Amino acid sequence: MKNIVIVGAGFGGLSVAKTLCRNNSVEVTLIDERNYHLFIPLLYQVAVGALSPDDVSIPIRSVFARYPNVKVLKEAVDSIDLRNRRVITCVRAISYDYLVLACGARHAYFGNDDWEQYAPGLKTLEQALEIRDRILDAFEQAEAAIDDVIKRKYLSFVVVGGGPTGVELSGAIAEMAHSVLRKDFRNIDLQTTKVYLVEAGPRILASFSETSSKQAMRDLQALGVEVRTSLAVTHVDAGGIQALNERIDAGTVIWAAGVRASDLNRFLDGEIDRQGRIAIEPDLSVKNHSDVFVIGDQAYCLDRKTHKPLGGLASVAMQQGALVAHNILAGIKGQSRRQFQYYDRGQAATIGKCRAVVEVGIFKINGFLAWIIWLIIHIWFLMGGVNRIAIILKWFWIYIANYQMDRIILAKEWRFYPALRPIRKYKEDKTPSKE
Ligand SMILES: Cc1cc2nc3c(=O)[nH]c(=O)nc-3n(C[C@H](O)[C@H](O)[C@H](O)COP(=O)(O)OP(=O)(O)OC[C@H]3O[C@@H](n4cnc5c(N)ncnc54)[C@H](O)[C@@H]3O)c2cc1C
Repeated sequence: MKNIVIVGAGFGGLSVAKTLCRNNSVEVTLIDERNYHLFIPLLYQVAVGALSPDDVSIPIRSVFARYPNVKVLKEAVDSIDLRNRRVITCVRAISYDYLVLACGARHAYFGNDDWEQYAPGLKTLEQALEIRDRILDAFEQAEAAIDDVIKRKYLSFVVVGGGPTGVELSGAIAEMAHSVLRKDFRNIDLQTTKVYLVEAGPRILASFSETSSKQAMRDLQALGVEVRTSLAVTHVDAGGIQALNERIDAGTVIWAAGVRASDLNRFLDGEIDRQGRIAIEPDLSVKNHSDVFVIGDQAYCLDRKTHKPLGGLASVAMQQGALVAHNILAGIKGQSRRQFQYYDRGQAATIGKCRAVVEVGIFKINGFLAWIIWLIIHIWFLMGGVNRIAIILKWFWIYIANYQMDRIILAKEWRFYPALRPIRKYKEDKTPSKE
């Protein structure tokens, strides 16, 4: 039996494993540093308290419980030894006949890693929960603030990056402030909340058509989001952002711009692009290593039709995963491999509770119908019946009752921006001195 090692149980890795698990002539070892598969496209809903972590994730073991030829390991892979055909995890070395790397990407701050402490990215559940804490706590701090300037700062939110994540997140924050939380606070007027979406390029949703981009901008403005294009962020700190000559003061900054592929690429031979992705062959293998495949956000892959690099999309990773499984089985049977051809099924971004932009081929849809399509696509792709039902019920409740359930702040201490913390300082000033 050939041993196939897959690193990463995201969209790409899971797609490979789900095809191979039905083939008893191979043994699959699926390694991930987490014990769950994360449905990243709905992560922003965790960040705004609309869904909980369990709604958007599923334990990897449960997916393969019925397949004895799949071994699941919760371990982080530290390095790859191509010469001896082994991957080295934090606890052991694992040999492979075929290796599939699908470790995705993480956020990048264009060489300014210190910005991360002030502006978390949205890629993991931990980050989504931290963003949720920050957003909810900002409202609490504004409610408690005595100084109007501080109050205004806490009621200002900046989302950096006008791609689908930035658009979805800024729309959801605006909706939360202006509608969902409106009646919960006594000392602040949430209508004064400012949400800025800052994009360095000339328009938001650059991968969509200009028509959809303009429509998304109008929809965001209708929700109260101030969209600022052609504004490159040059500095981020505890009190906001600096962009060219402009300063935007904000208590909460969220980073939705720039990604960097998995560091494991440095153990492979091949060209690496500016985003850290490794160039792969048309059959998705690594140059000179036909037994090693790289897929998804970790790989730099040209579209065979347009000759442009494919974007970081779940659909790209899933289609690549299916082809890698096919090519591995073809190799074992001595048959020839196929080359990767991406079938573009369109793209979608939602704006608030009932608007979206959807593009499928020449069709461009927006508004409520687009939102329904977005809803169906996401529910369709979600794994596991439990998640689907839980999400449908929650969305239905949010829609009719305008109530978001997951609104607890996990962090006990206000730890994000001590410089902006007025309450503690006020209490300390009032404490009588011991002398
Ligand atoms: C907020 C957000 C919203 C998005 N929305 C959409 C959308 O609406 N539609 C769409 O098509 N795409 C969307 N994307 C992009 C999509 O999520 C990615 O393209 C897709 O997840 C890539 O799949 P992947 O398998 O390459 O990596 P991932 O899905 O990121 O999976 C990587 C896996 O590898 C594991 N891993 C990483 N390093 C190691 C290691 N060293 N050892 C062990 N395990 C490791 C991780 O734990 C993870 O499980 C979105 C992305 C983000 C961040």
